[in-house]
Amino acid sequence: MKRANLMKFGIASAMVLFGGAALVGCETNETLGRSQFLLVDNADLAPTALQGWSEMLKTAKVSRDVSLNNRVRTVGAKIVTAAGYNASEWEYVVFENDQPNAFVIPGNKIGVNTGMFKVVKNDDQLAAVLGHEAAHIIGKHAAERYSQQSAAQIGLQVAVGATEGRVQQAVANYGGLGAQLGLLLPYSRKHELEADKIGVDIMVRAGYRASEAVALWRNMQAQGGAGNPEFMSTHPSEATRISQLEAYIQQRGYK
Ligand SMILES: [Zn+2]
Repeated sequence: MKRANLMKFGIASAMVLFGGAALVGCETNETLGRSQFLLVDNADLAPTALQGWSEMLKTAKVSRDVSLNNRVRTVGAKIVTAAGYNASEWEYVVFENDQPNAFVIPGNKIGVNTGMFKVVKNDDQLAAVLGHEAAHIIGKHAAERYSQQSAAQIGLQVAVGATEGRVQQAVANYGGLGAQLGLLLPYSRKHELEADKIGVDIMVRAGYRASEAVALWRNMQAQGGAGNPEFMSTHPSEATRISQLEAYIQQRGYK
């Protein structure tokens, strides 16, 4: 190969390599209206997440309250349908736990603590909770957090390698218990505010009143309490969430 051609070849290879990396590593999430750095997708995290979920079902106390379970299932089905999912692919479990908390994991499982019903006063407010959780999945927040952490840990070299069909390998090497626990870590402030807004869009589409999302956060604020993973996390503060939600609801013309 002539020198000039060799150089062209080299540039082309680099473009394929980094172009490819950009394709897998960075994509635009239309719901979020921003690009995301993703080495893995929800589906890549699901097996580990589901392992963690079945552990939880064995070790945590699951509520047998039939009416509470039915209520979560009924509102949940409306919410995930409005979010564009097949409702039959989702599972909801009510945990006997006094903390007003809820969470979602890739693999379409939503957990709601019985303590959540200290602040959830009606089905619209429950819809706000479940809409927020479904929004974390739409927003691929766990996948994004995982990707950022992996890239920081393993460096760009392996991150580029991971785009060459070795994503599963990266998950295998750096996943395990870390990923399992990572899935239940609090989200960033940015992720929480995004989930609040997308959650409101979803609940409105499902026929619930957006203003009840604000009411929910006021109840949460009145309840007080220290920071807790996921729903009750202290970042952003309830006051910030309330003011941002109010502005968003007004901007969108929701009731
Ligand atoms: Zn959240």
